[in-house]
Amino acid sequence: MNYPQIILGKGKEFSLQRRHPWVFSGAIAKKDANLQDGETVEVFSNKNEYLATGYYAGGSIAVRIISFEQRPIDAGFWLDKIKKAWDYRSHLNLLNETTNVCRLFFGEGDGVPGLIIDYYNGHAVLQAHSWGVYLQKDNICEAIKSVLGNNLISIYDKSAETLSKHHSEKTTNGFLFGNLEGDLVVKENGHLFKIDFINGQKTVFFIDQRNNRQLLGQYCKGKQVLNTFSYTGGFSVYAAAAGASHVDSVDVSQSAIDLCNHNMTLNNLGNHTGIALDTFDFLKDKKDQYDVIVLDPPAFAKSRDSKHNAVQAYKRLNVLAMKLIKKNGILFTFSCSGVVDKFLFYNTITSAALECGRNIKVLHYLNQPPDHPVTPYFSEGEYLKGMVLWVE
Ligand code: SAH
Repeated sequence: MNYPQIILGKGKEFSLQRRHPWVFSGAIAKKDANLQDGETVEVFSNKNEYLATGYYAGGSIAVRIISFEQRPIDAGFWLDKIKKAWDYRSHLNLLNETTNVCRLFFGEGDGVPGLIIDYYNGHAVLQAHSWGVYLQKDNICEAIKSVLGNNLISIYDKSAETLSKHHSEKTTNGFLFGNLEGDLVVKENGHLFKIDFINGQKTVFFIDQRNNRQLLGQYCKGKQVLNTFSYTGGFSVYAAAAGASHVDSVDVSQSAIDLCNHNMTLNNLGNHTGIALDTFDFLKDKKDQYDVIVLDPPAFAKSRDSKHNAVQAYKRLNVLAMKLIKKNGILFTFSCSGVVDKFLFYNTITSAALECGRNIKVLHYLNQPPDHPVTPYFSEGEYLKGMVLWVE
């Protein structure tokens, strides 16, 4: 193809041969001096063998791979990518009578680093995390239209919040196709949630907790439940709908609590108190009050540098919860920090249990659902991990 070439140093081809989709700048032996951020490039080994096609970005991850097959990156390429992602979700029946929200495209897991598309009952929300993807948005948009057909009402670009500052200044959020009229409500396992992708946070709705919320329901009948970092109240709705005697939702943001309260009402659920407070402060002076506690904090570590502090924060949080949970209580505890891998997380939880002298049993190890696919070639993609613990 006629794309600028990047030649790797000797022996640096192995990671691409194992289908890991990143090329670090240190692996590059030779490249065009004028390469622009976002430009499509082909990567070759030192022996001049074609390895992969990707887009260039000046940082420490210099190229993100979007194809291991030498082909033009054109409308047909994007059609194939989007079709494959949609077909996969259709085969798995992820959109069905009870659920009309899912992640339609999950970055590396679906073969394009930096491309996230969420599907909210007919509305596709696109988030480009890198300039290379953003430059392709017209092709991506056409592909979504063509693949989804009647299943599509609108496409909204929300990339201004996910691109780096330097790039986001050049973009504005807005509809690329169609429109949204009135309020949007989606259904997840039969439960209703209000979605405001235009004014809502960067992550409008945490689609990745769908299966874990469903599991929570199994343990909540007649129980006193505490859902911390509750945001839209996903876990609270499932707990209350499953017959919890009472649910408390805690989030530091008042607007999150308002949204949580709204979603409880939307599902005709009572027995709920929304509390706008820092979770750490809330937990400090409670004792023996809850049968079931959910800890689903935001990513405490966003980079390797903050890993140590993050681990300490996970430990502190879990110690607080384990100290106050009732005897034979059930704790759902999560981490969505990519840099804290599951084994480090499990060890952190163990050390929290040891510190408060409570015996635990692991009922479940949890992860992300299939619309956030993990491939063995890219283990970094497995970011969500959780444990369900029986606390004696
Ligand atoms: N569990 C949620 C997702 C959590 S997102 C779900 O299932 O959808 C993280 C949430 O934590 C955000 O709403 C944010 O406002 C809240 N948050 C961040 N720091 C907090 C803190 N220290 N105490 C309470 N809430 C906090």
